Amino acid sequence: MIVAPLGSGSAGNAYYFESDGTGILVDAGLGPRETRKRLELVDRNIEALKGLVITHEHYDHIRGAERIARKYGIPIYLTRGTMNASRIDFSEANVIVFENNSTFQIGELNIHARRTLHDAADPACFVIESRDGTRVGLASDLGQADPTVVNHLSNCDGLFFEANHDLDMLRMGTYPWSLKRRIMSRFGHLSNDDAMNAVQRMMGADLKTLCLIHLSEKNNHESIVRDLATRLLQRNGVQLELGIAKQFQPTGVYDIRRRGGPRRVTLPSGSQMALF
Ligand SMILES: [Zn+2]
Ligand SMILES: [Zn+2]
Repeated sequence: MIVAPLGSGSAGNAYYFESDGTGILVDAGLGPRETRKRLELVDRNIEALKGLVITHEHYDHIRGAERIARKYGIPIYLTRGTMNASRIDFSEANVIVFENNSTFQIGELNIHARRTLHDAADPACFVIESRDGTRVGLASDLGQADPTVVNHLSNCDGLFFEANHDLDMLRMGTYPWSLKRRIMSRFGHLSNDDAMNAVQRMMGADLKTLCLIHLSEKNNHESIVRDLATRLLQRNGVQLELGIAKQFQPTGVYDIRRRGGPRRVTLPSGSQMALF
C-alpha cells in the first residue's frame, strides 16, 4: 500500500492511500488547487481519486471536500453525525454515509472505521486494508487513546498517529486558558507523552512504518517528537521506518508491504468449535 501524507496539522489535513489501483484521500482539509498540486508532487492525479473519507467535521479536515467532490465527481464518505454537523451544503456532491464501528469498501480497499473521543459529532479513525491483508491505521484528533481505538489500530503494518503537543509548551504558551483546557481535555488532542504510550501499546510485530501526524505548530516541534519516538523504539528494541508528517508539503511516499506472507485469519474464540 502506498501512503502519502499531503498535509498534516491544524492548517489542513489530507492523506493519500493507494493499493491495487484504488486511490483515496483520508480527509480533505486543503482546497482543490492545493490538493491537486500536492498530489502532483507525489506523481498522482486528483481525477483518479475514488473517494474522500472524512474523519470529522472540523474545518482542517473537511474544508476542501465539497469543492473537490463537485469539481472532480469524487464521492465523499462520512458519518451522518459528521455530515449534519459540518454545515456544508452537500446537495451537489455524491455523499455516502457510513456507520462508525463498521467496515465499508472503496474499490479494492476495505475501510474499518472506529469511533474516537474528540469534540466532534461522530468522529472516526480508520484501518485501511488492502487485498493482500496489509493494514494501515490512521488516527488523528484524539482527546484520549481509549482502549477501543488502541485495540483497533493494533496489528497494523503502518501507523499514522497523532502527536499533537508538548504539554509544557502548551501550558506555558500563549493560547487562552479556555483553548488550552479544550486541547488537554479527553475530547481534545493527544500530547506527545500520551501518543508514545499509545504507540507502545499498539506496536505489533508487523509494524514497519510509524508516522506521527497533526503536530501543533505552536506547541510542538518535529525534533521533540522524533527524539521521543526514537527513544521509544530503542527502548523496545524495535527497528522501523519513522516519519513526522509535515504541514505545508507532502511528507513523502511510504510503500508499506507486509513483512510476512498473506495475513492469517484469526477466528473469533468460540467459532473454532464449529470446525470440528
Ligand atoms: Zn484537526
Ligand atoms: Zn478536530
